[in-house]
Order: sequence, then structure tokens, then C-alpha cells
Amino acid sequence: MYDLVIIGSGPAGLSAAIYGVRAGLKLVVIEKDYEGTGQVALSSCVDNYLGLPGMDGYSMGEKFREHAVGFGVEFLEAEVSQIEKSSSIYVINTSDGNKLETKTVLYATGATHRKLGAPGEEKYDTKGVSYCATCDGAFYRKKTAAVIGGGDTALDDALYLSGICEKVYLIHRRDSFRAAEITVRKIKEKENIELVLNSTVTEILGTDKVTSIKVNNKLTGEDSILDVSGVFVAAGSVPSTQAVPSDVNLDPAGYIIADESGITSAPGFFTAGDVRTKALRQVITAVSDGANAVTSITHYLENM
Ligand code: NAP
Repeated sequence: MYDLVIIGSGPAGLSAAIYGVRAGLKLVVIEKDYEGTGQVALSSCVDNYLGLPGMDGYSMGEKFREHAVGFGVEFLEAEVSQIEKSSSIYVINTSDGNKLETKTVLYATGATHRKLGAPGEEKYDTKGVSYCATCDGAFYRKKTAAVIGGGDTALDDALYLSGICEKVYLIHRRDSFRAAEITVRKIKEKENIELVLNSTVTEILGTDKVTSIKVNNKLTGEDSILDVSGVFVAAGSVPSTQAVPSDVNLDPAGYIIADESGITSAPGFFTAGDVRTKALRQVITAVSDGANAVTSITHYLENM
């Protein structure tokens, strides 16, 4: 019987694991196939984490993980298929048939890439369509790529790719960005980044791999074809809540309703990081969520 099962090994889950171990909790972190520490691993540069400016997301995640491993945190590689409650105990079922009993659960699964839903996106996934510039950017050396989105990820990706590709189109559906102003300024200074604003990608075209995209200008209604070898989709994320029990309340966008205490509508079921309702989804807020949630969890366990 565990005191705490943490589902997800991103910054929120690992921070909670460190706080939990230090609080003397018997805990395990369940993670799906390990490919780096959550979404942050895909970021080419995380410039706003206190004390670690300019670090790439993968290396930052590795540092978090080393910290947790050094503190003796137990990891289990598995996919959680269902979470059941039997009196005050949670039973975590994994798709490989494991059942783990625990007094509390911390659901810290983060979020996954939002897809565009454009024809060709699925067909050319990994054949020119990518959701990770740092992972796949090197395949497009001296080629032309398109980045789709107007947030920090899209602009960071465009900057990163501008150092590899001959040309980068940054395609955004509006004419203003939601990324940090400093990043927008850097983008505008890059000669090989062309802004394609008020525009959406309506089709991804190719042969055995991507060769071009069809772009619709929302103001003029005109379609144009841009020749590109790579399409980097950076259209934000959707929360990963597949195994959340039905008595845990979600907001209309599907995020678990909780404030920074991590307390949800279900007693003993806590949440942290990008999967919960919050204004700012950043590494630094995920890390503090993990710590705060463990404070709530220890109070809950003391009063059980
Ligand atoms: P985001 O801020 O949600 O931005 C998603 C972008 O994709 C938006 O510009 C959105 O357009 C666009 N979009 C959404 N659906 C679309 C669709 N179907 N077709 C075309 N465009 C679509 O996501 P994010 O950039 O991944 O950032 C997530 C969070 O992580 C943010 O809080 C961000 O600040 C943070 N982050 C920080 C850093 C950093 O500090 N270095 C790096 C990466 C991410 P609209 O603008 O029109 O809605």
C-alpha cells in the first residue's frame, strides 16, 4: 500500500516526488514510455526558469530527474488504464495488468500537442509533420519549413529552426502573437523568417513526404501554396485526462478543476501542473504545484 501514487513524471510530478520522499511518504511515480521529462523536453530553450537561463528543455528535465533519482524516488514505467476507489483506497490499474493500492493519487499528466486537424496532418506525421522542433529540426537543414501557431512554443521553434533551415514560414491565424514580447522582437529581426499572418493551413500536401502546404488568408479569402519540406505544428496543448475518475470535476476545456493546493472534487485525488485549471502553464508553476500538492496530501493523510 502506497501513501501516494504520482501519475506523470514531468516537472510537477518530479517536484511532488522530491517533496513527498522528504516528507517520508511511501510513493511511486508512474510514467508512460520515458522520452524525457514531459512537454518541457520538447522546448528548445526555457529562458524563464529561475537560475537556469538559456537551458534547453530536455537537459532541464534530465536535471529534475537526476534530482529525484538521487533522492531514491521509485519509478514504474506503465500506462494507467483505470483508477478505481474502494472505500478510502484508490486502486491504480495499468494496461500491463498491474494493480497498485494507494491512499492518495497525484494526477500530474500534463497535456499533449493539439493537432490542426488539417487533411494530410496524420498521413504525413513523421514524414514531414512534426510537433517537436528540437527533436526533428536537424532533418530540415538548409531546407524550408513552416511553423504553425502564435504562442511561445511556435515562436521559439521558429527561432530555433531559423538557425538550421534556409527559410522558415511562421503561420499564425491572427495578426498578433501571444508569445513574450522579447521573443516577438527577435522573430521580427530574423531575415529568414517570413510571417504569414491571418492565415490557416488548410491542407498538407506531399508524395511519400511533405512537399507543400495550402494556406488560406482569412482576410482576402485567397489560397496559396507554399513549398516546404517540414511542418512544425505548435498549436498549444490539450490536457491528458484519460484515466481521471468520473467524480473528479473538469472545466469545459477538459482541465481538472483545482487551485494551487491541488485539491480536486474527489477526496484523496490531487492534481498538479499543466493538467489543472490555471492561468500560467510554465515549468516554474508546475514545479511549485507539485510542492503545494504534497502539502495538501500530507494534511489529508494525517486526517485520514
Ligand atoms: P499556446 O500559448 O496555447 O499557443 C498556441 C497557439 O496556437 C496560439 O497562438 C493559437 O492561436 C494557436 N492555435 C491553436 N489552435 C490552432 C489551430 N487549430 N490552428 C492554428 N493555430 C492554432 O501554446 P504554447 O505556445 O505551446 O504555450 C503553452 C504555455 O507554455 C504558455 O503559457 C507559454 O507561455 C508556455 N511556454 C513558454 C515558453 C518559454 O517561456 N520559453 C516556451 C514554450 C511554451 P491564438 O493565439 O489565435 O489562440
